[in-house]
Amino acid sequence: MTFKNKRKIVKVAMDIDDVHPRKGFGIDDINDNLRYARLLNKNFGMKFTLFIPTNCFGEYPISKYKDWFENIINKDYYEVGAHGHYHHRKDKADFAGSQKEVNEIIELMESEFSELGYTPTGVKPCGGLITQGVYGSLSKKFEWISDSVAYKHRKVNSIKRVFCTCSSASPQYKGEEEIYIQSHIASGEHISNSIDETYNRVSEFLVTLSKEVDVLPVFVSQLTMVKK
Ligand SMILES: [Zn+2]
Repeated sequence: MTFKNKRKIVKVAMDIDDVHPRKGFGIDDINDNLRYARLLNKNFGMKFTLFIPTNCFGEYPISKYKDWFENIINKDYYEVGAHGHYHHRKDKADFAGSQKEVNEIIELMESEFSELGYTPTGVKPCGGLITQGVYGSLSKKFEWISDSVAYKHRKVNSIKRVFCTCSSASPQYKGEEEIYIQSHIASGEHISNSIDETYNRVSEFLVTLSKEVDVLPVFVSQLTMVKK
């Protein structure tokens, strides 16, 4: 009689950044550019944390798109996290301005979400940019942050942090207990191509991974958070 070795269980989370109510960014039913998420859920049980800017470029206030938001949040395979307000990056990044500017951004995000009756527990800085002083401000409104690996060395006591381990462009398993795949909404000129490419890459990865370990799909909020 042979006994099968107990297989290792590996948690796998995936996020989708920049989803907002604009054609090509999560609102278009015709191109249906979130369908790779739907298919990865259907075929692998994957769950997704959507990081949504609350008023991308000052043109897409999510409070005005109640049906769109409800359609997302009513699906049991989505959770929503905050992703700045204007989604400004580079020189005017949402979470890299003065304390006063950042507090204004936090209030704006909170107001948009509260109009939709939703309180996100997590947040991810736009472009990964966040100055050291901002963690404390975010900790007053959020339980956790998806932080950039570039800031992993920082000492942060105020808020729990989680870091992605790979990108949907090249999903990888290096023996970790948990995998966090970062992705962006498949959009742009070649919507169909990027949807199919993202779906194919991630599904091939999951098929290969499943041969080695038991895959346990989770939301980003269910990953082990670091607090130093
Ligand atoms: Zn973004």
